[in-house]
Amino acid sequence: MLSQESVQEQKTDLFPNPTIRELNEKYKPFLALARSHALLEWDLEVNMPEKGSTSRGFIMAQLALLVQINLANVYPTLEKAGTLTDLNDYEKGVVRMLEYHKKFFTRIPPNLLEEEQKLAVEATVVWREARKKSDFKSFQPLLEKMIDIKLREAEKLGYEKHPYNALLDLYEEQVTVDDMDAMFSRLIPALKSILEKVRSENRFVSSHPIELESYETQSLVNVNRRLTELLGIPKDRFRMDISTHPFMTNISRDDVRITTRYEGKDFAKSTFGTIHESGHGIYELQIEEKLEYTPIGVAASTAFHESQSRFWENIVGRSKAFVSLVTPMLKDELNFLGKYNDEELYKYFNRVRPSLIRVEADELTYNFHIALRYDLEKKLLVGDIRASELPSTWNETMQDYLGVKPENDAEGVLQDIHWSGGSFGYFPTYSLGNVLAGMIWHNIRNDIELDKTIRNGDFAPIKAWLYEKIHKYGATYPPKELTKRSFGESFNPDRLVQYLEWKYLS
Ligand code: MG
Repeated sequence: MLSQESVQEQKTDLFPNPTIRELNEKYKPFLALARSHALLEWDLEVNMPEKGSTSRGFIMAQLALLVQINLANVYPTLEKAGTLTDLNDYEKGVVRMLEYHKKFFTRIPPNLLEEEQKLAVEATVVWREARKKSDFKSFQPLLEKMIDIKLREAEKLGYEKHPYNALLDLYEEQVTVDDMDAMFSRLIPALKSILEKVRSENRFVSSHPIELESYETQSLVNVNRRLTELLGIPKDRFRMDISTHPFMTNISRDDVRITTRYEGKDFAKSTFGTIHESGHGIYELQIEEKLEYTPIGVAASTAFHESQSRFWENIVGRSKAFVSLVTPMLKDELNFLGKYNDEELYKYFNRVRPSLIRVEADELTYNFHIALRYDLEKKLLVGDIRASELPSTWNETMQDYLGVKPENDAEGVLQDIHWSGGSFGYFPTYSLGNVLAGMIWHNIRNDIELDKTIRNGDFAPIKAWLYEKIHKYGATYPPKELTKRSFGESFNPDRLVQYLEWKYLS
């Protein structure tokens, strides 16, 4: 019989199996290299002198190669682990995640990866120029090459039914075209009808005078710092800097970094960007400590990550309760707000405006932008649409979805960097993230008086709930399984629709 003490120890030891322990040990150098790569990437965006880019590209490419070589050290032990039965969920998670990495690195030949990386660099340069001149034709041949490479990658990775499944899996493990088709076919008609009502009944404004008010950068830096303090983000494990494109990265569980930007007016852009990235950061800060340095000590998926940022940004940050909580602080830092009350700030934060640009889209219109891109990516891959037809199809779909039509390709098909960088399969995870945020909204209200908690500025119960349902598992379970565990059902777009109806129509 086990003594009381060893029972206790067993309870806290998540990885009792010696083969799994060996895997975790062998994973460590891979992790250290990957995180070093992430730090260099952060530095590139935040600190690097302009001329450093070529040498930085060289160093990062070499490091990426080392990452790949290092993972091969786990393969023999991984094979052994594949025959084990009686593993606990954490141990199964370790095997699953390593198999997932291995699949990518062993099925795609290094020369194909290299070909893609080179093309991505070239295509991104051409895309920037093309966007400036609004000239899709100059970008088209590179996009065609990229589509060809992505298709070859899909073939190497293997898939069932649709090549897009192979690419989707790289961002959202085990999620398929069938899942995404089901999501969008429910979401789009529902959103159309909500949007129509909101517009015809003038329920929310489309613009607000505050967006024209100029601010001093330092004042808004103070606002953003005070917001992260309000959310209870520990100062000694977190930092915030400035970059052109806001993002979050983490070097370890105790070293989480976000960036934001300051454009001089329309302060909500910067502020809600900060809340969004903080939401990503809170996830990383709260992954179970015992999983650190293991293959499952990471977020469950791209969409789960986005669900956190969107929950904090939209469901918490754009609520009436949050507005009333932060208005005194905002007025303290931004003098021009003196003449506006809570109600005006709420209207300003929740403008509804069908627009051409995805990154400026509001809660109600955002998913139309994603549905359009998802559909095009899927069709491009199987030849249902040719690259040359993209601008016209794009513009017609925007007209149909949102009643707006781009005047040129810069505000249409050329607006995003994703395709030039080869990120096919990424877009739909944004919408899935929104759907998951809707599921959080639906479920958290069974346990927490959300409105009251936010109004009081006490975010600990919300964070504890997210920890219990999502954060503590890291990547122990693939996203579909985690969804069922956390919310008792599979991906359910109705929850997002219900949230939006509640907020915009009731
Ligand atoms: Mg995000």
